[in-house]
Amino acid sequence: MKQGRVVRTYGGYFFVYDFETEEVYRCKIRGRLKQNDIEVIVGDKVEFQELDEGEGIIEDRLERKNRLFRPLISNVDQVVVTTAIREPDLHFKLLDKLLVLAHAADLEVVLCINKVDIPGLKVTKDEVGFYEDIGYQVIYTSATEGEGITELKDALKDKISVFAGPSGAGKSSLLNAIQPDLELQTDNVSDKIKRGKHTTRYVKLLELEHGGWVADTPGFSRLDISFIKPRNLQYFFAEFKEHLDGCKFNSCSHSHEPQCKVKTAVEDGVINEQRYQSYLQLLEELKENAKED
Ligand code: GDP
Ligand code: ZN
Repeated sequence: MKQGRVVRTYGGYFFVYDFETEEVYRCKIRGRLKQNDIEVIVGDKVEFQELDEGEGIIEDRLERKNRLFRPLISNVDQVVVTTAIREPDLHFKLLDKLLVLAHAADLEVVLCINKVDIPGLKVTKDEVGFYEDIGYQVIYTSATEGEGITELKDALKDKISVFAGPSGAGKSSLLNAIQPDLELQTDNVSDKIKRGKHTTRYVKLLELEHGGWVADTPGFSRLDISFIKPRNLQYFFAEFKEHLDGCKFNSCSHSHEPQCKVKTAVEDGVINEQRYQSYLQLLEELKENAKED
């Protein structure tokens, strides 16, 4: 039996990248899997049999590491949270929300600060450097000038990555800078069914020539955090972790309570004030949601 990864789906077919031969097979799926509600989506590792030249049938799905909903994709290793330093201006609250979403989905994060070529920066590297202090890998890039692209390529190597970030941040430009033909990727078997049809767009994994895969559709575009329980928000601010024990109240939400270690850390400048404000704002948002339910 062969093993591979579903890299895209189209018209009832699953396109499976064979780990051994590194070729893509156009596969159908055994009815048995559907009957047992075993869903197969892009990103899944599967066992399949070769039937004809370049064609096959999926017999089983292997264990999954995770599953995202928008786009519908599994086994993602990391999200490249991309924001422009200007045009549009860097929006810290939005950035922190994206980081929370990434952590809630249990993904590793690479923070990409793009458009560093634009002169007269409103936000300097000094001003975003605190993300590095918290422990994030921060890569400063210019998709147009090429700065940081090698570093970004290295970060993507041998991993399955999804880009996320506001529209206009430069996500497609960065993909193009990494590999100019990347978004045009097709394979011979697909061409004949692709021609003429262009209906729903499904997520596709694009193969990086230096190793690794990147989703062609950005993640977390809906910015919906409502599934997070308010009391769990604290765990998605990595730098809070070491301050969570020792608040006077076990149930401390680190907002209004007295003798709160998180607030003390903010006052002492150990936790960045701006990050703390993001936390408070997201907490309010979650509490409002909880009320509506
Ligand atoms: P996306 O919506 O995140 O995919 O953003 P795009 O890649 O479409 O880029 C939005 C706009 O920003 C386009 O006009 C790009 O040419 C421009 N852009 C992207 N990256 C850079 C960059 O590094 N520097 C500058 N100056 N402009 C960029
Ligand atoms: Zn507290």
